[in-house]
Parts: sequence; C-alpha cells; structure tokens
Amino acid sequence: MRDLIVIGGGLVGLATAWRYLAAHPRRDVLVLERADAVCRGQSGRNSGVVHSGLYYAPGSRKARLCRAGGAALEALCREASLPFARRGKLVVAIEEADLPRLAELERRGAANGVATQRLAGDELQRHEPHVRGRAALWVPETAVCDFGAVGEHLAARLADGGGAVRCGAAVRAVDPTPAGARVVLDGEELAARRVVACAGLEADRLARARDLRVVPFRGEYRRLVAPHDACVRGLVYPVPDPALPFLGVHFTRRVDDVVEVGPNAVLAWRRTPDGGAADALATLTWAGTWKLARRYLLRAGGEYLRARSDELYAAAARRMLPALETSWLAPAPSGTRAQVVGRDGALVDDFAFERRGAVLHVLNAPSPAATSALAIADELVAELDAR
Ligand SMILES: Cc1cc2nc3c(=O)[nH]c(=O)nc-3n(C[C@H](O)[C@H](O)[C@H](O)COP(=O)(O)OP(=O)(O)OC[C@H]3O[C@@H](n4cnc5c(N)ncnc54)[C@H](O)[C@@H]3O)c2cc1C
Repeated sequence: MRDLIVIGGGLVGLATAWRYLAAHPRRDVLVLERADAVCRGQSGRNSGVVHSGLYYAPGSRKARLCRAGGAALEALCREASLPFARRGKLVVAIEEADLPRLAELERRGAANGVATQRLAGDELQRHEPHVRGRAALWVPETAVCDFGAVGEHLAARLADGGGAVRCGAAVRAVDPTPAGARVVLDGEELAARRVVACAGLEADRLARARDLRVVPFRGEYRRLVAPHDACVRGLVYPVPDPALPFLGVHFTRRVDDVVEVGPNAVLAWRRTPDGGAADALATLTWAGTWKLARRYLLRAGGEYLRARSDELYAAAARRMLPALETSWLAPAPSGTRAQVVGRDGALVDDFAFERRGAVLHVLNAPSPAATSALAIADELVAELDAR
C-alpha cells in the first residue's frame, strides 16, 4: 500500500506531492496524470502571472494563499534559476464609472498587504506611455513566470526525493476504504493510505459532487505582433467587474517577452478537446449552467461575439491602448478554466477542499491557484497530517 497517491499532475498536485515528500522523506508517493506529460491542463496554458493578491476578499483562502504562494514561488524560481520577472502591473480605470471600484481595489490591496500606488491619468503614462485611462493603480509586486517550467521542475524534485509521476494514467474512481483509499484505473486498482485528488477540470467527477459542477470557460488569447508589442512594457488590466470571477481582457508581457492580449471568458461545452458529447451533455444538463447563463446573458453574448471577431476583440483592447489596430493581433493558443458552479448558478469563488475519509478532494482551484500552488500544497499536507 502506498503512503500517498495524488491524482492530477498539474501545479497543485505536483506541489502537494513534493511538499508531502519533503515533510515525510522516504514515504512512497505517486502522482497519477492522465495526459502524456505533466501540466498539460490549466497549469500549462494560462497567463503566467504571479498575482499579488490584490483582488481577493480579505480573509479568504485566495487572499492568504496567493500571498504565501507567490512568495514561495518566487523563492523556488530564484533558487532553481527558473524564469521569473517582476514586471509590475497597472489596473486602469478607463471611465469615470470605474473610479469607485478602483478605490475599492486599493482598499482590498491594503487589507491583503499588497503595496499599491494610485496614479492620475497623466502619471500612468510614466509606466505605460501608450496606455490611456482616468486613473490607475500601480502594483509593483506582480510578476510573470513560466508555470510549465515550474511544473517540470517540481516533477524532477519529486523524482529526486524518491517519488514518482506516472503519465497516461487516467483515474476512473477513487473511494475511501477502512484502511485508506482505493484508486481505480483502466484494468488496475491501487491502494493508498491517503489520496489527494487535484484533477482540475475533472474535480467534480472524481468527487462525485452532487451540488457542484465544473463549468468550463475557454480563455482565448491573441498576441501583439512586432513592432507593436513594444507598446506594452508590463501588465495592463482594466478594473474588473466585481460580478465576474474573470479579470477582463488585458495585456501581459509574458516572461518570454511575448505580449498577450486576453484571455476572454467564453462558456465552453467541452472540458478538453477530446471531451466529446459527454462533456457537452454534463454542462448542458446542469441546472446551474442555465441559471448562470441567464444571469450573465448579455455579458456571455458579448464574449461569444467577441470570440468570433478580431475586430470586436481589438475594440475591447483598444479601450486601454487607443492606438491598437486589428492588424496588430495574431492568434495565440487558448486555455480552459475550471469554474465551479452551484446548482443555483452561483459561482464558487474561493479555493475549496473537501475530505472524505482518507481522500482529500481539491474541488475548486481557479486563478490564482497557479500562483498559490505551493501554499495550497502546504495547507493540504497539514490537513493530511492532522488526520
Ligand atoms: C486561461 C487561463 C489563465 C489563467 N491565468 C492564471 C495566471 O496568470 N495566474 C494564476 O495564478 N492562475 C491562472 N490561471 C489558473 C491556474 O492555471 C489554475 O488555477 C491552476 O493551474 C490549477 O492547477 P491544478 O493543478 O489544480 O489544475 P490543472 O492544471 O488543470 O491540473 C489538473 C490535472 O489533472 C489531470 N487529470 C484530470 N482528471 C484526471 C484523472 N481522472 N486521472 C488522472 N489525471 C487527471 C489533468 O490532466 C491535469 O493535468 C489561469 C487559468 C486559465 C485556464
């Protein structure tokens, strides 16, 4: 019987396995990943932003674990010479109506221990000469890194410590047993004293959650072509709509210096490209999907149209960068977010974990879970050890 099986080789799963092994050397730790390599899910296709903790409700897990996780991630990147750049970001109030929400963000930042600086419209151009707005918050701590490289590094560190990652291992079920837990794969069963399920877009299925469902939201990007990419130095975001868990189309100068525009947030029927009809059916038959769609009908329609039109996509980006022309945008790969939605259509905002006997399910780990992964892992390991 193994000491720990982790389901899911994304950042949360890999970090949890690594931190567990660091706390308990010589124990038998195995990560099961259904894809043919680690970090092929959300962890390998995101914006690469190491968030500062500005946005999250003070006292929430997101607020606490983003701060702790960001610091731990920076230390790891520096120690292992992984790409990491502290670029700083501007949150721009584009219109008068954004100003009260910008002030609220400033308060949240202070409550969460994030340093910010309020800038008037002309001052923001010291940081981003091509960006226009009524005012902005400058958040110097925000950084970028290569989360895929971090995941590979974690897998290598795990192997160095005697742990293992098995790819191509799709888990069909996980159940508590009197001695621990049983993990069912195709034609095989494994036993473990404890299991942590960190399955991202499949979290609800493995947990057999009855009142929650993962609803996939595709995040599509464009990139700025040279020489126009020089118009953005760092990260430039609009003030987010507090009703939505997404941050609005923004500019990110990634750690490899590509300037991405996006992501948008389009309700997707499939969780993965090979998800097939079962995924679409699961999304369509969930009452929460329709309640959510009704609530955000206008916004969802706008996102859907924008996803199909470069012109509309450019128009959204142009609100902050007036010089931008549609021809400056080139296609870039997309990613799919796991957004957990209740039966009543309410979005689950905070990170959520649930224990069933020896099995700990990570039910909700949306952004900033890549930033927070090492701190989430410490919390999960403490939970395992408390048992
Ligand atoms: C477009 C986009 C932009 C984002 N931008 C940022 C950002 O800039 N900063 C940030 O902090 N966060 C960002 N996020 C969020 C962040 O990427 C995720 O919160 C984080 O990667 C979640 O990690 P995870 O390990 O929980 O999930 P995942 O990375 O999705 O990993 C889950 C793993 O489980 C595997 N799996 C699933 N089912 C099974 C099964 N049955 N058996 C075996 N394996 C299974 C999957 O193949 C996958 O590898 C973004 C997300 C997206 C999609």
